[in-house]
Amino acid sequence: MKTKVLVTGGLGYIGSHTVVALLRANYEPVIIDNLDNSRIGILQQIEKITGVSPEFHYIDLCNEAQLADLITNDESIHNIIHFAAHKAVGESVAEPLKYYRNNFNSLFSILKAFEGKKMNLVFSSSCTVYGQPDELPVSEVAQVKKAESPYGNTKQVAEEILQDVATADKLKNIISLRYFNPVGAHESALIGELPSGVPQNLVPFVTQSAAGKRGPITVFGNDYDTPDGSCIRDYIHVVDLAEAHIAALQLLEKGNAEGNYDVFNVGTGNGYSVLELINAFETTTGVKLNYQIGPRRAGDIVKVWGDVTKSREKLGWQARLGIEEMMRSAWAWEQYLQTNQIN
Ligand code: UDP
Repeated sequence: MKTKVLVTGGLGYIGSHTVVALLRANYEPVIIDNLDNSRIGILQQIEKITGVSPEFHYIDLCNEAQLADLITNDESIHNIIHFAAHKAVGESVAEPLKYYRNNFNSLFSILKAFEGKKMNLVFSSSCTVYGQPDELPVSEVAQVKKAESPYGNTKQVAEEILQDVATADKLKNIISLRYFNPVGAHESALIGELPSGVPQNLVPFVTQSAAGKRGPITVFGNDYDTPDGSCIRDYIHVVDLAEAHIAALQLLEKGNAEGNYDVFNVGTGNGYSVLELINAFETTTGVKLNYQIGPRRAGDIVKVWGDVTKSREKLGWQARLGIEEMMRSAWAWEQYLQTNQIN
């Protein structure tokens, strides 16, 4: 019998890549999604890649009863990877309640559904919890800074809630993965990031601009304290990121999390500036980008990249794919969207 894994938000960007990785690792994913920022067609794409059509439930996690029914009716589910959450930083500043309501109620529904039961949970957290770190690369023991946005705050507070729950209840084994900047797409180019409206994140904007869907890229500031003046991030290929969830789940299944709760950085450990990324896109794809230097974006972190020693040593995971494969696959996905007229 294959081990079931409930994947909330399993049709989203990181969720869909993780479902593919789970199937490859011989798990049985059970997807729940409310299609808020994803499409039902992703299910067929997953089937095209893997040959398997995973179990899917259209459930809004804020509806406690729907999830509780599913868990009550299926005693074999103990593993969960929880992606489903709102994630747009800017929107969270404009509509904080939407973020607090959705992201916390979803988490509470999960905890409620597993009350009194064994649960191995992998939680999607973010390097946003570090703010601007005092030391780079930033490791998991670095101080968590006051969140810059309600979105970031939902990640920080959720981590605290989960730590408390794991401390209080030995049936709960929990790992928070702090993602750096996920980019790229599956090598098949059948799944990838589907930003709605004007992309806020750099790479989807770059690929859309290269495809002629958008105007020139604006580099948000070139007068920062970095070698070329633009901000630095630790970009991580989404396929590597998906694999980190498998490693986390396997560690939880061994019952090996630090005192039931642990946290890991998921990045490459390398920082790239905005201008370096633009250059990497151009050299990898041969496509010339139009860009201009604009003003700084309010609230931007100047530079952050992760110390991934703990992930390598304890999780047994490390990134394999570099910036070229990130750019190549992101561009292949953009071209797939164009060819198939998916907007
Ligand atoms: N960025 C940019 N132009 C854009 C979008 C982003 O120069 O159109 C920069 C942004 O200032 C940051 C980096 O790209 O330095 C990554 O931004 P993103 O929003 O993708 O991630 P985050 O800031 O959340 O790490």
